[in-house]
Amino acid sequence: MGTMHWTRSVVSSLMIVVAGIALSSPAGQPMQAAVTMAASPAAAGPVGRSSLILEATYDADLKLSWRSRKIRVDSSATIRNTSGGAIDRMEFNTIAARLGAMRLQPVTVDGVSVAATVRGQTIIVPLGRNLPIGATTTVRIRYRATLRRDLAGSDWLFTRTNGVVDLYRWLPWVSRRTPFDRPNHGDPFVTPSSPSVTVRIGTSRRLVLATTGHRTSVSADGLTQTFRAANVRDFTVTAARDYLKRSRVVRDTVVRVGNRPGAGGAAMLDAAADAFDALEKRLGPYPHGAFKVVQSAGGYGMESPGLIWIPTGVAASTLRYLAAHETAHQWFYGIVGSDQAKEPFADEAAADFAARFITGLKRASRCSAGRLDRTIYEYSAACYYERVYIGGGNLLDKARQAMGWSVFWSALRGYISANRDDLVTTSTLLDALDAATPIDLGRTLFAPRFPRIY
Ligand SMILES: [Zn+2]
Repeated sequence: MGTMHWTRSVVSSLMIVVAGIALSSPAGQPMQAAVTMAASPAAAGPVGRSSLILEATYDADLKLSWRSRKIRVDSSATIRNTSGGAIDRMEFNTIAARLGAMRLQPVTVDGVSVAATVRGQTIIVPLGRNLPIGATTTVRIRYRATLRRDLAGSDWLFTRTNGVVDLYRWLPWVSRRTPFDRPNHGDPFVTPSSPSVTVRIGTSRRLVLATTGHRTSVSADGLTQTFRAANVRDFTVTAARDYLKRSRVVRDTVVRVGNRPGAGGAAMLDAAADAFDALEKRLGPYPHGAFKVVQSAGGYGMESPGLIWIPTGVAASTLRYLAAHETAHQWFYGIVGSDQAKEPFADEAAADFAARFITGLKRASRCSAGRLDRTIYEYSAACYYERVYIGGGNLLDKARQAMGWSVFWSALRGYISANRDDLVTTSTLLDALDAATPIDLGRTLFAPRFPRIY
């Protein structure tokens, strides 16, 4: 997430096992959750286990009523168990459960209704059996929800305000139980990448839609549009009646801007295209054919795969920084995923470092240097941004200075290419830098700031 409010600028462990859910090891290999596996009976019986390391494809219908703000979702996730052990439940996240007064209809597993429960933003789906390694199952989730009418708190993620519909994480996505409430504006999300997502969007009136996917068809009346995406870890939808479109080819990617009249689309395109060019040169190839830069209802800048939000009302003075930060998330979050809630350093510090490097906006932190290995739930609102983004980015810049710039960027490119479409930990990033230089970065630079890791 970015940090520029629409009215003013504001400012590892090697194994993470939470409630029986294993995150990937730094090598990208699925890790057994030793505790939960040991606790499982060898014979038949529920294994009591879920995982993030699942291959899920999504096929969804989204109905959006502009006037009433109501949405209806009918989503089927076909999931292959690639986690290295049996699982007997799945956990999906959607913020409709927290912000949309979600009414969940019966959830089915391979056509059979199951007793799903909702905890915070998480829909917990019992599979009714142990799903062995390599087996496939289909979970269908249907719900109705209502968009917010303001930007307060986290409402900007799921709202129709200022003539724009913002739909973040409306599609229930494989995840794990992740608390939505936090003391700052950190992103309470972690999602594995999906090889294939198909979404049909039906709207009550003609709308210009900007989504993570590319449009493959539109009905004759213009009210149903179909989108597809590959290798994405979310599918964001933004809509307006009057988005103006403009685009520019940058290297081999089409950078597309969607903005409402009067919102400065030309400046948005310049800022995003320049950032995209500078970042792809340093970080390596961007995987999608198009990169969308879209005016959102407001609130904060926000990343999603293939698409970023620039909030309504962003100050001209912060546009270049904000566009660069959100664009950098295409690599640090989009291509290489991480647990944004538990380890915000991995994506936010890296994205902010890269953004300030290419725009020349490096500055000192306004909070004291502190630990960089905390979860979003442990930083105060006053210092979350200064510590993790600014302080964390400046630590990476120290590594760059110690290593030399060509070794540093080469190490970052190697980290991105080695972990493409995976979920990593902060350790993966720090180790990749450390391994690229004879300097002991771990001991000299990282250890004091990451006591949970070193
Ligand atoms: Zn960010």
